[in-house]
Amino acid sequence: MSDCLFCKIIAGEIPSSKVYEDDLCYAFHDISPQAPTHFLVVPKEHIQSVSAVNDENARIVGHIFAVIAKLADELGFAGPGYRVVSNIGQAGQQTVPHLHFHVLAGRDMTWPPG
Ligand code: AMP
Ligand code: ZN
Repeated sequence: MSDCLFCKIIAGEIPSSKVYEDDLCYAFHDISPQAPTHFLVVPKEHIQSVSAVNDENARIVGHIFAVIAKLADELGFAGPGYRVVSNIGQAGQQTVPHLHFHVLAGRDMTWPPG
């Protein structure tokens, strides 16, 4: 999608700090980190949000969760624990309309989220 910020990051048109990449997804550090470790994992295919996940594209989401689990092991925060968040739409405070999963680690999280 030509005017999508994360599509531009995936295409390398806007710089990012890469954490991981494969055929289906791209992970990069959040520009405004909310925890000592905070990166985003996005599908390379433009999907608007969790609300646009369906039987056709759900395998990409499953793959992203497998990638998150692998990165948590490799980066050493699987043991202590971490949080995965996806904001959806206006009330969910989604600011970039390209599906993304925030991965936050390195501190104790609070509940409920704001
Ligand atoms: P959300 O508010 O859930 O849609 O999350 C969007 C996230 O993208 C926010 O945490 C922003 O800090 C992050 N963000 C915005 N622009 C960039 C960028 N150029 N590089 C990395 N992260 C970004
Ligand atoms: Zn996009």
